Amino acid sequence: KRTYRDELDTVREDGDVPAGSRIMVYVRMRPLSKAEKESGARSCVRVVNKKDVYLTEFASETDYLRLKRLKGRHFVFDAAFNDSSNQQEVYNTSAAELVEGVLQGRNGSVFCYGATGAGKTHTMLGTTQNPGVMVLALKDLFNKLRQRCREGDYVVRLSYLEVYNESVRDLLSPGRPLVLREDSKQGIIAAGLTQYTAYSADEVMSLLHQGNQNRTTEPTRVNETSSRSHAILQVVVEYKVRNDSHYVCRTGKLSLIDLAGSERALATDQRTIRSLEGANINRSLLALSSCINALVEGKRHIPFRNSKLTQLLKDSLGGACQTSMIANISPSTLSFGETQNTLHWADRAKQIRTKGCDANEEIQIPESEKDQAKLLLEVQKENQ
Ligand code: ADP
Ligand code: MG
Repeated sequence: KRTYRDELDTVREDGDVPAGSRIMVYVRMRPLSKAEKESGARSCVRVVNKKDVYLTEFASETDYLRLKRLKGRHFVFDAAFNDSSNQQEVYNTSAAELVEGVLQGRNGSVFCYGATGAGKTHTMLGTTQNPGVMVLALKDLFNKLRQRCREGDYVVRLSYLEVYNESVRDLLSPGRPLVLREDSKQGIIAAGLTQYTAYSADEVMSLLHQGNQNRTTEPTRVNETSSRSHAILQVVVEYKVRNDSHYVCRTGKLSLIDLAGSERALATDQRTIRSLEGANINRSLLALSSCINALVEGKRHIPFRNSKLTQLLKDSLGGACQTSMIANISPSTLSFGETQNTLHWADRAKQIRTKGCDANEEIQIPESEKDQAKLLLEVQKENQ
């Protein structure tokens, strides 16, 4: 039986697997910060050819030995962004196709993974001057809807929630924790979650920043967002396109996820995961690792029920969905260990296959035109 170590030693080539049936995995390296430079950190990561990532320098001899043993110095991803990449570039590569899919009635998810400070929130939310994937996706979505259908023929609904310490909270209207339940049509939903009807991307920007302010802060560091909080933005689009005698109604869902910092929960083997569970480590993130392991190994049972986060992400990981994962890393020698872990984790996620996704589409005939359509169908039948 092959071990995890064996797997790491193999250089994987995923070239023959059709894109779309597997998770697309991207890596984004942030610039070295001023503070890092001042404390003498150097860069230990190199991004080449827009897809290769090399760990080049080592913070210590131990790091070097560990890495040599794992042979994991070179990684290949669907795309890799260096420290000069911009938000639009990241959006275009990792999420634009999924937004198009949502308009065809499919589901899509993008999630950011990585240690605290690696650039997840910057990538997902960004700033007012430099908006990230969440805002750019909504901009793109509204532009396309306006081009393709009439005013009033579409509706965009948003919800923004947090999973913190196994409780689910509404970031758009904070209050008591929400209960998850299974809905026969929509899958797992958070009961009572605010569904905000949005009309433009600009208006959404401030809403999201406000929502982000509502994310739980660690009691000891009240001004910082907790590194243990997962934020999920869900955008549901319903729209109809007119044909001669009927409407084609489509529903698509886009989930954009800013995960908690992975530093205390990075474990890729099941034994470590179990030993960490007792230590009050982020249960949702560990459960996510377990699900990913089970998916990678092609297990029949995937333990989605083990945490709130995995229940909410069930559709995104195992269901009919297009999924992108962005692994955020720091280039600093001071973060060498975290970066190495994140890269191994991301490398493994490349193997996850998702089920092919059918479009969620329905034909609707307007009341006034029903008789006419019936007539048309009868005529067609007669002609056959
Ligand atoms: P995380 O959410 O992973 O904890 P942040 O997104 O908050 O990390 O990023 C940490 C810091 O680094 C922030 O000050 C952020 O503005 C900065 N940063 C992150 N990514 C980039 C980038 N690609 N370009 C410039 N600054 C970045
Ligand atoms: Mg963050």
